[in-house]
Amino acid sequence: MPVLGCIADDFTGATDLAGHLVASGMRTIQTIGVPTEPTDAYDDVDALVVALKSRTVPAEDAIQASLEALEWLQSQGCSRFYFKYCSTFDSTAAGNIGPVAEALMAALDTPFTIACPALPANRRTVYQGHLFVGDALLNESGMQDHPLTPMTDANLVRVLSAQIRCPVGLIDTATIREGESAVRQRIATLSADGTGMAICDTTEEQDLDVLARATSDLALVTAGSGLASGIARAYAARQQRQEPAYPPITMTGAAAIISGSCSRATRAQVEHGRAHYTSYHVDALALAEDYDRVITAALAVADETIDQGPLLVYASAAPETVRAAQEALGVAESGALVERALADIAAALVERHGVRRLLVAGGETSGAVVEKLGVAALRIGPDIDPGVPWTTTIGTDQPLALALKSGNFGAPDFMTKAWELLA
Ligand code: ADP
Repeated sequence: MPVLGCIADDFTGATDLAGHLVASGMRTIQTIGVPTEPTDAYDDVDALVVALKSRTVPAEDAIQASLEALEWLQSQGCSRFYFKYCSTFDSTAAGNIGPVAEALMAALDTPFTIACPALPANRRTVYQGHLFVGDALLNESGMQDHPLTPMTDANLVRVLSAQIRCPVGLIDTATIREGESAVRQRIATLSADGTGMAICDTTEEQDLDVLARATSDLALVTAGSGLASGIARAYAARQQRQEPAYPPITMTGAAAIISGSCSRATRAQVEHGRAHYTSYHVDALALAEDYDRVITAALAVADETIDQGPLLVYASAAPETVRAAQEALGVAESGALVERALADIAAALVERHGVRRLLVAGGETSGAVVEKLGVAALRIGPDIDPGVPWTTTIGTDQPLALALKSGNFGAPDFMTKAWELLA
């Protein structure tokens, strides 16, 4: 039965968290939204991660979605909870980190929790309550210009204080370096004083191990993905379990790559993929002219070649091509049209061409494909490149090996080396 229930405020953040948990020894399943169908498949895991889209929605909506996720995780047997947000503490002046944390605390009837955004492996560190991105303070790191969640203050005690009703405290580096019992003592003192949440300093990976052990009694922790490694390492050690906890990925069958990302990284990967595999280019203007003809043509290529190796179907194009489509069709309309076509092609490849191993490039594109295939959850496997794991699907007619890559992730040879992990 799962012990740790996690609520992540966006999809890629959820995958990042799940990847940290698995790599450090907790078998993990990530669901896409709060599952609505009853399921019996989640009893052989240690952690469940519910991926929400609640980072920038109105605070009331974020609270409601998070409470629904909590209720579902409790119904699955989870006894400890982890609210995951970005390691740069991405939030608006109104929240949503503080309001969601307070709502979860109230629902769990717990008066105290920590806020530990740091991810030292990615050089997100916190010192004296101030968040650094590399060697820059948060508010000088570029995050001050973020379109949705501009971060103009690096002092997280102050940032969080503006978002919640209860007082905010600090667990500083000096205390953490004294060790687990000093941190437990500090938590007791802060709680006795009526402090509701404490920002945690963290400059090194070992700090996360101390914090994970010292907070093991708390019903709720809130953090970036870094603390998950500490929690999973402590768990694996207690269970005398080997790290990491990757599931075997045994799918054989045809393979395909669907690419709708137009990021520079993905376009380089597509070029590399085109040099190795049969490929088909989906053109937005051609779709607008005769949708069915394009889909039929793509599937005709699959008929001929799918048993010879991965088929690459891509809409990815240079900025001027995308701009021309957007000018002719509208920005939202051209994006949605291409997403629908790629999702239809992916579904047909799975249903009619025996595709069981699928790579998808692009965040929105992945969302469209996952919805079309009916994926309810993903069992997280090994990373192809940092942040992009192979997964196996739950909820599809047959389990698939599926990797979802957000645009900028992955090395240029991503599309060829991914298959080596499945061999
Ligand atoms: P990323 O993760 O790189 O942001 P997304 O899939 O989230 O990738 O977004 C890419 C968007 O661009 C999608 O809406 C996709 O449908 C759209 N798109 C892809 N190719 C084209 C194209 N040739 N013309 C117009 N829009 C396109």
